[in-house]
Amino acid sequence: MTILTAMTLRQLSVCERRLWLDRYADTRLREVISPSVFAGGISHEQTVSMAMFGEATPVRTADWPEMVRVTHMLMARGAAGIQGAAFEYAWDDNTIIRGRVDWLRRAAQPSRLGAWSYEPVEIKLRQEVTPDDCVQLDLYLWLLREVQGVETSGWFWMGRDGDNRPRRQIEHSLDETRLKAAVERAVQVMQGDAPPIFLGGHCQNCPWRSACNETAAAARDIALLPGLSRQTWLHMQREGVRTLDDMLALPMAELSRFKGVGKIRALEMHTHARAVVTGMPVPRNPLPEDVLLPGVMLDLETRLDDGRVWCFGWRGASGRTQAAIVDVYCDMDRVKLPDGETVHIIPNSDTGWRLVLQAALELPGPVYHWGSFEKGVLRSTAPADVVAALDTRLHDLNRTFRQTVALPVRGTSIKKVAPYLGFHWPDGADVFSAWADYNAWLLEGDAPALARACAYNRADVDALALIWQWMVDNHV
Ligand code: SF4
Repeated sequence: MTILTAMTLRQLSVCERRLWLDRYADTRLREVISPSVFAGGISHEQTVSMAMFGEATPVRTADWPEMVRVTHMLMARGAAGIQGAAFEYAWDDNTIIRGRVDWLRRAAQPSRLGAWSYEPVEIKLRQEVTPDDCVQLDLYLWLLREVQGVETSGWFWMGRDGDNRPRRQIEHSLDETRLKAAVERAVQVMQGDAPPIFLGGHCQNCPWRSACNETAAAARDIALLPGLSRQTWLHMQREGVRTLDDMLALPMAELSRFKGVGKIRALEMHTHARAVVTGMPVPRNPLPEDVLLPGVMLDLETRLDDGRVWCFGWRGASGRTQAAIVDVYCDMDRVKLPDGETVHIIPNSDTGWRLVLQAALELPGPVYHWGSFEKGVLRSTAPADVVAALDTRLHDLNRTFRQTVALPVRGTSIKKVAPYLGFHWPDGADVFSAWADYNAWLLEGDAPALARACAYNRADVDALALIWQWMVDNHV
């Protein structure tokens, strides 16, 4: 017997493979997804429920059949509202449909229950209704029709206003054709072989992410190609190009004819596939001459509350990695940290930018940084004369890296590239802990915390310097 839920149907448009894995895969391969991922939606639902219905106890008992029984009992009694109503009905001889509705609201329309009936309410944090939302509410309306014997409207309560009431209340009617198509497709997926892997943003909070990555790696699946669009992937699936080896067997000109590919992308895909298959870096284009020049390595840390720079990290002509932190109330201009390093203390970010400019004037090459972030921050926070002096000197090394070489790793963030080249950040160090440590220094003068924050920034600069050196040493 196939059991379908609203979640199953919602996932159809996102990833058919997930439906299949949920049903058949070994549950020990599932990763635990942090509850914080769902916390925003749950707390929104509770806030709106409270404003609209007041204090309520959802239908919650030990097991599913009991929840269904209690829901029927409350409906038969004519309860004004039922939170977390549970339903289960046979779609046909082989398929059961299950649904758990945010709220049922009693309506004046007579039904099999008596002089009343119920309308389902779906509470969403978003402002706009999506096609998946519609299928979900179709499913609830269909289940309710089976129980009540009449068709009612459903409601989306979208977003919330200053009084915690829904910003928009949108009426919805059952579209049986749409629901039937979704149910039939879901049954088809469940009865077929495992659908192919397409890795993307939708995998971020999927419990099967590691399992899919491992399966793709073992099969040298085309899903391993970073930035592969769904359009290109679908075209390749249709043409029987399923593995990196299939792809490498194609002449470059043929590869560039796939939807969304073209000449430049074909080269990127081809070199990346070769890197993965050989396990070695593969050159794409020669390194531009100016990138061979020694320059300043720059990394910035910005505040998580207002985006202003709180730490400048750089390595200049001295070859020493330095850091300057903004602390308006500290009257020292340097602090010796418990780990033996020294950090500059500056009153504002203008001073930090001038230190970077000074370092840039001592070297012939660019001011290297990773990604477009630093340039944006320069333009929005530095004094005009510093912007004029540095704007053309800043060089996004990540961009040049992508244009000149492919590594056998997925992604080109500095946290992917540097570890491949043997660099590792201090344990537990990340942008959030560095920000918390910096605040511990500001609020409590916590020097070990400041040392940790600076060590994180220093590691970013050192990683950048190592990548640049590797590019220069290995350029073609
Ligand atoms: S990891 Fe991605 S491809 Fe795999 S099941 Fe989840 S969503 Fe689908």
